[in-house]
Amino acid sequence: MCIFCKIVRDEIPSNRVHENDDFLAFHDINPKAPIHILIIPKAHTASFATADAKTLEGLSLFTQEVARLMGIDQSGYRVITNIGEDGGQEVAHLHYHLLGGAKLRFGHFTDANTKDNF
Ligand code: 5GP
Ligand code: ZN
Repeated sequence: MCIFCKIVRDEIPSNRVHENDDFLAFHDINPKAPIHILIIPKAHTASFATADAKTLEGLSLFTQEVARLMGIDQSGYRVITNIGEDGGQEVAHLHYHLLGGAKLRFGHFTDANTKDNF
C-alpha cells in the first residue's frame, strides 16, 4: 500500500487540516512555502494523468475550500501536481500541492532558471 493510502488510514501520522468522505488535506512534511498542504483523494489513484473527471472535479473544489480555510484565497496561492518521472512525482498517489502564505517566486517549487530546467 502506498504511503498516502497509509496516511488516509492513519497508519502513518499526519497533520490534517481538512477532510470529507472523499478527500483529505494535510501539511507536507517538507514544506517549500509558509503554507504547503497536500490534497489527495482518499481512494488510491496514481496521478492526474489517469484520474477520472469526478475525482479531478472534487479534488479541485476541495482545494478551493482548503485555500479559503487557510485564509489565502484572497492573497493568492499556487496549485501544482507532479506527474510521473519527468514531472518529478515521488509519491504515486494523486496529490495537489497547495502553496501560499508568501509571494512565491516563479520557479519557487521547481528549479529557478528555465534554461537549467531541462
Ligand atoms: P511529489 O514529489 O510526489 O509531487 O510530492 C510528494 C510530497 O510528499 C513531497 O513534497 C514530500 O515532502 C511529501 N511527503 C512524502 N512523504 C510524506 C509523509 O510521510 N508525510 C507528509 N506529510 N508528507 C510527505
Ligand atoms: Zn495510495
